[in-house]
Amino acid sequence: MAEAFFNEVAAAIGAEWINRSEETLRRYGENTMPGGDRRPLGVVYPGSTAEVQTIVKAANRHGVALYPVSTGNNIGLGSRSAVHAGQVVLDLGRRMNRILEIDETLAFAVVEPGVSYQAMYDELLRRGDKFMVDVTSGPPQGGMLGNALDKGAGYGPYFDHFGFSCGMEIVLGNGEVLRTGDGALAGSELPNWHVSKYSFGPILDGLFAQSNFGIVTRMGIWLLPRPPAVRSFHFTYPDDDDLAEIVDICRALKLSNFVPTLLRVANDLYLCGSEHPSPEYSPGNRTPISDAGRRALREKDKLGAWTVSGAFYGPSMAAIEPQIERVRAAFGKSGKATYIPHEEALGFHALQVAINACSGVPGVGELGLLKWRPGGGNLWFLPGTPMVGSIANECQRMARRIYAEYGMDYMIMNVCSARFARGLHVITFDRENPEENARANTCYEALARAYAERGIFVGRAPLDYHALHMGQAMPAFRDSCTAIKAALDPAGVIAPGRYGIG
Ligand SMILES: Cc1cc2nc3c(=O)[nH]c(=O)nc-3n(C[C@H](O)[C@H](O)[C@H](O)COP(=O)(O)OP(=O)(O)OC[C@H]3O[C@@H](n4cnc5c(N)ncnc54)[C@H](O)[C@@H]3O)c2cc1C
Repeated sequence: MAEAFFNEVAAAIGAEWINRSEETLRRYGENTMPGGDRRPLGVVYPGSTAEVQTIVKAANRHGVALYPVSTGNNIGLGSRSAVHAGQVVLDLGRRMNRILEIDETLAFAVVEPGVSYQAMYDELLRRGDKFMVDVTSGPPQGGMLGNALDKGAGYGPYFDHFGFSCGMEIVLGNGEVLRTGDGALAGSELPNWHVSKYSFGPILDGLFAQSNFGIVTRMGIWLLPRPPAVRSFHFTYPDDDDLAEIVDICRALKLSNFVPTLLRVANDLYLCGSEHPSPEYSPGNRTPISDAGRRALREKDKLGAWTVSGAFYGPSMAAIEPQIERVRAAFGKSGKATYIPHEEALGFHALQVAINACSGVPGVGELGLLKWRPGGGNLWFLPGTPMVGSIANECQRMARRIYAEYGMDYMIMNVCSARFARGLHVITFDRENPEENARANTCYEALARAYAERGIFVGRAPLDYHALHMGQAMPAFRDSCTAIKAALDPAGVIAPGRYGIG
């Protein structure tokens, strides 16, 4: 079956675009999760939408499962490994990596799957730095299209990467090509496809985020005109329980949209962990870092139990001063916060990450988190909680207790918007130590259970836990996903199991 598939694909797109070498299968199976690597059957590199169609049709004929990745930097969530071993990874980014268009009048770009944040940043710079792409603080080689499809997010006004995408081209599981929005009209010369967000009929775009109904080959992404000045602000707070005050202040600042960026509220270990390996960890150690150890780290890095970061945009640094003063007044009221001005923050490596993230500059600063403990294990637990201080503290206490129970170090950044905060919980562990690996797994499962019991779902999940989370959803949700899968991918060839869908 598989041999016939590879023969047919080789004849259609060229044998050089299939790789089944030992080394490649090993590398494409690697990830950072506790469930282990997943060796694919092979890797195929399509060069066009038509080639993707050919491959999908061959997969239908031969009963082969395909796992599409765009740039494959989904670190902590699956990297580029497939849901199950034995699927064929479709690496779209290797050859389909062109910026198809940048429209400087309407401020949007059209990209193929392989366009990374770094590539878009470099191209915009080359064109005179007039536009800003909303970046993540993750790997610069991560891609705009894959990130948007996985409901990834950044930190500027266009932080909602799926929300700020417009118009897709998709190869469905049955091999048909679908264009969403105005793209569904054949032959239009106007740029409507990538600017008119809510066109005629149901909004089908959403079906292709966190699902396995199709393979997206093109996407429009909106760009922000680069403001002449970006001025950040930062506040440190001394105590864990100060989170409640911070969240209540952030809510007020965001509900009125006074602060244009999201507010990054990072705990000590999230920021210090990006800078140093754990000073207390030793192999087999079952206890998290001590409070004294945490205090010593934050004193060394001049950071707080919590550090808040955000930014304003304006015509000049001086013109932004009044906004900064208003934010200082808000955070200054209780007397607990210490202000770190933009100019000083530029000298703090950990705060530079926040400044870059709000300025549309990709960077590797946060990847230090992967080295907090040895052994390469990294998982992200990503619940969204309401922006109410008392609830934020309740959740904090619950999560700290669970982390401690499993001997993990509580690292979190609450990314605050107006009504909810995405809690970026990091679990960094020694994946090469089976006992610690098992503890990281049960820690994630315990967090998933505890939050779901409170009615809080995750916004994105590591591959290992897609089935678990789908099992938490009501039957009608699961049945609807199954029915859509049957309609769009009747032979089930696209990423079976992704996001817990058949
Ligand atoms: C330290 C650190 C910080 C991070 N910070 C952030 C952050 O600030 N924001 C954030 O969002 N993430 C963050 N991440 C997570 C992740 O690294 C990024 O989201 C990254 O951009 C995702 O990888 P990618 O863009 O290469 O997507 P890919 O791996 O290419 O795609 C992601 C998934 O989407 C699906 N997919 C991809 N392309 C297609 C397609 N064409 N058709 C159908 N399905 C497809 C696949 O299942 C794939 O596994 C961080 C990670 C780390 C380790």
